[in-house]
Amino acid sequence: MSFTLAIVGRPNVGKSTLFNRLVGKKLALVDNQPGVTRDLREGAGRLGDLRFIVVDSAGLEMVDDDSLQGRMRRLTERAVDEADVCLFVIDARTGVTAADEYFAEILRRRARHVIVAANKAEGKAGEAGALEAYALGLGEPLRISAEHGEGMDDLYRALVPLADRFAADNVLQEPETDVDLPEGGDFDDEDDSEAWRPTADRPLQLAVIGRPNAGKSTLINKIIGEDRLLTGPEAGITRDAISVTTDFMGTPMRIFDTAGMRKKARVVDKVEKLSVADGLRAVRFAEVVVVLLDVEVPFEQQDLRIADFAETEGRAVVVAANKWDLEEDKPQKLNELREAFERLLPQLRGAPLVTVSARTGKGLDRLHSAILKAYEVWNRRISTAKLNRWLEAMTEAHPPPAPGGRRIRLRYMTQVKTRPPAFVVMSTHVDKLPESYERYLINGLRADFDMPGTPIRLHFRDQG
Ligand code: GDP
Ligand code: GDP
Repeated sequence: MSFTLAIVGRPNVGKSTLFNRLVGKKLALVDNQPGVTRDLREGAGRLGDLRFIVVDSAGLEMVDDDSLQGRMRRLTERAVDEADVCLFVIDARTGVTAADEYFAEILRRRARHVIVAANKAEGKAGEAGALEAYALGLGEPLRISAEHGEGMDDLYRALVPLADRFAADNVLQEPETDVDLPEGGDFDDEDDSEAWRPTADRPLQLAVIGRPNAGKSTLINKIIGEDRLLTGPEAGITRDAISVTTDFMGTPMRIFDTAGMRKKARVVDKVEKLSVADGLRAVRFAEVVVVLLDVEVPFEQQDLRIADFAETEGRAVVVAANKWDLEEDKPQKLNELREAFERLLPQLRGAPLVTVSARTGKGLDRLHSAILKAYEVWNRRISTAKLNRWLEAMTEAHPPPAPGGRRIRLRYMTQVKTRPPAFVVMSTHVDKLPESYERYLINGLRADFDMPGTPIRLHFRDQG
């Protein structure tokens, strides 16, 4: 499992030399698309048995130019934000300079983990400089020589525990969706009716998404029951969790934390833009997506975009209206919300809409039930026998049209996938089947098999 290591420091301390050593000189320029100036070099690094991504923020000439200073700062910040570990390089022969202090400051505020390396310390050189580096307050400096390959064993020992830790964090994987059902078999859905239930080994993967200030952090904190997400940078150079595994009212869940990610990155000026990107990313990792609305400003453009994305990606969706404690006329507001939901998100028809107060904790039990139900439905398997009895009843109640006097026949139906449920109908003259009939079937499936909200995929296969 790999992690990202950024090499950071002022010019001329030996960053490129170290980058080349970790990456191997020949491979140093991994991503040099012609014509595109890349400010951050990336390479596949190795040290002993460790494999990681190295990002080198070098290659910037220090010019007396304000804009360059600004650019360098931005680049460094980007490298730091993207990295799991920052290797902060200083020149042990020169000792700590004002420019080093400047970088140290950035690292103290933003980095998840910092390892200080006093470079050019081959032989006895640079002992004083290495000692000075203690004063930066970023931990014990390693003495290394990038050019001569000294101190690499110390660097290895410093990285191993971090690598383990990030391996554990990175266990978060995209869920297995679109699971194929066994071939041709008519399975009984009662057989493994409990198989979908989340377990400690296989927790339900949940993302809470929504516009900034909707109350995501407050909600997640309430669920996990402690202030784990809000450990600010003041608390030191700790890394906020990207996902938290917790027990939410008896259900093991892994909550993908976008809010915490954003807070950690501290890109306050770009909050709007980033939260959408974060949200989209979270959706990919999630099985169930909670779209958290701020009841004062519900269904904003951002909420709609992410909800729509969740549906297209085939995730189960639960909509939760937060800050319900602020509402005076609750029944009236609920009607408004329901109306807006139907109008703005028709593709999520029937998805649960629950009201909560993340602050007081009221409604969390409703939210829990809705999540669990959505997940169960998302995993639902319906036996072929039941489906075909159902199909017969549906076509009898409301036969498909007969364009040009030739009746469309829906012959046979089976579920081919779960997560989300997908069905195939064998039929004749599929191309003539009106969309309204498709909707009739999908809505019927939802109603008759109690599958509100989950994305349902219905395919038709032509049999001539
Ligand atoms: P960067 O600007 O931080 O990327 O620094 P470079 O990697 O380009 O190195 C700057 C200078 O320091 C070059 O002349 C290197 O040869 C030299 N240098 C790098 N590492 C070492 C080292 O471990 N010992 C000594 N003596 N010189 C080094
Ligand atoms: P995030 O940006 O989505 O993570 O939102 P936060 O969790 O940081 O919350 C934004 C603001 O809304 C904070 O001031 C919270 O105290 C407040 N807030 C969150 N949930 C509720 C709630 O249920 N009721 C009320 N009245 N305020 C809330």
